[in-house]
Amino acid sequence: MTGTLFTLFCGLVFGSFVTCASYRLPRGEDVALKASRCTRCEAKLGFKDLWPVLSWLISKGQCRHCGTRVSVRYPVIELVTAVLFLLIYSQYGLTAQGILLALMSVALLIMIIVDLEHYIIPDEIHYALLPLGLIWHFVIGTPPLDVAEGLLIGLVIGLTLRYGYRVLRRKEGLGFGDVKFFAVAGLWLTPCPIVPFLFFSGVFGILTGLLWRLLGRGVCFPFGPALAVALFLGIAFPEIYDLLWHIG
Ligand SMILES: [Zn+2]
Repeated sequence: MTGTLFTLFCGLVFGSFVTCASYRLPRGEDVALKASRCTRCEAKLGFKDLWPVLSWLISKGQCRHCGTRVSVRYPVIELVTAVLFLLIYSQYGLTAQGILLALMSVALLIMIIVDLEHYIIPDEIHYALLPLGLIWHFVIGTPPLDVAEGLLIGLVIGLTLRYGYRVLRRKEGLGFGDVKFFAVAGLWLTPCPIVPFLFFSGVFGILTGLLWRLLGRGVCFPFGPALAVALFLGIAFPEIYDLLWHIG
C-alpha cells in the first residue's frame, strides 16, 4: 500500500514536471531553474498552485490572479503520468528497473507532447534516454558490445528510412530528430529483435496519420508518438508486445 501511494505521489509530481518541460523545451526556456508563472499575467505560482491535479480542481481551472482559464492538459498529463508509474510499479515494484522505466516514460511523454504540438523531438530527450538506456543495460547485464551494436543498427535503420524516403518520394519524410530516436531506440531494444518495433511504429504511425486527417490537421503528421509508444511497450511490457506481434 505504501509503495502504491508513494508511486502515485511520484507519478503526480513527475507529471507536473512533464507539463512544465513540454511547454518550456520547445520555447528554449530553462526547464529546471525558472519559477513557474501564469502564462498570461506572469504571476509567480506559489505553494498553493503547485499541487498536481488538486490545485487545478480547487481553483476550478483558473489562474488565481487573473482568472485566465488554465488548460485541462495540466491535470490530464499529471494523471496520465501517475497511471503509467502505477502500471510500471505493478510489474516491476520499486526496483532499479522500475525506476529507470519510470524515468524513461517521463522522457517519452515529454517527447510525445512536444512532437504533437511542434513537430520536433528536442535533443534533450535523446540526452536523457541515452544514459538511461546505458544504465538499463548495466542493470540487466547486457554485454557492452551488444549495446553498441544496438545503437549502430538503430542509427543505420533511421538513416536508411530518412534517405530512402527522400530518394523514392523526393520529399522530406523522417526528420533528423526521428533518426536520432531510432539510434537511441536501437540501444534500448538490444538484444531484442528490432523488427517488431519497426512494425508497431509503422502501425501506430498509420493510426496517427489517420487521426491527423480526421482532425483536419493536414497530411504531415508527427511520427514521434508512434515511435515512443512502440519503444515503451517493447521495453516495459514485452508480453503485450509478443501477443500483439503474434496477432499481427
Ligand atoms: Zn494569471
